[in-house]
Amino acid sequence: MMSQAVAGASLAIAIASLAWYAGSLSRSGAVAAAMVGTLAVAASWSWGFLLIWFFVTSSALTRWRGLVKAARTHGIVEKGGKRDAAQVLANGALFALSGACGVWSGSMSLQTIGLGSLATAAADTFATEVGTAVRPTARMILSGRSVASGTSGAISAVGTLASVVGAATIAGAALVVGFPPLAATAAGAGGVAGAFADTLLGATVQERRHCPRCNSPSERLIHDCGTTTHRSGGIAGFRNDAVNVASGAVGGIVSVLAWSAVR
Ligand SMILES: [Zn+2]
Repeated sequence: MMSQAVAGASLAIAIASLAWYAGSLSRSGAVAAAMVGTLAVAASWSWGFLLIWFFVTSSALTRWRGLVKAARTHGIVEKGGKRDAAQVLANGALFALSGACGVWSGSMSLQTIGLGSLATAAADTFATEVGTAVRPTARMILSGRSVASGTSGAISAVGTLASVVGAATIAGAALVVGFPPLAATAAGAGGVAGAFADTLLGATVQERRHCPRCNSPSERLIHDCGTTTHRSGGIAGFRNDAVNVASGAVGGIVSVLAWSAVR
């Protein structure tokens, strides 16, 4: 295992450095990604492959129509295209920890939780990236109010379809590396449920902020105009990364429940 961890660390550092150089990760995000990647490969090469597959597909989608999306979501979303450490860990820590513990202990339940949390991250990323690329507006999941695409808690038909494709992308890759079909399918379903939880949390408890100068909603602490935004709703401090951690956990739990129901 030690030599595999060393090989994994080398590979993870190489990929994280490339991603930092290409602008997909910030410096702190690259460090976090290297740590998550090392842990994943230390678990198994299959687990490392799943992480790389998620990273490559998500990064490609983030770049797709990047300028259009930046113009549509600037001032609204908390963070731009470069992922920082908190974002990387919010999306990848449960996957790597649960996966590694699952592989080392032989627990398929823990592995399914890890896979389901990665499927959630993929479903959420696909929904956001495709939704904002294709549609200028979306509807709030509870009120139905029309808002700018990319707003937390908003949903669209194309985004929902993309979330299913994103979860299926991870479930399919898991099948390729030999995951039991029922567990992979359960994780795919859990991923869709997790992305749905992400939207619900985004519409209810996620911190909402408002720029007094522009009189417009924003998820940023400092608006594009340079004015400090103030909290207008939701739980203070429960921001995008916290929502991602919670929805990843929901996705993992739904996955293992679905798997234990059908196995
Ligand atoms: Zn402003």
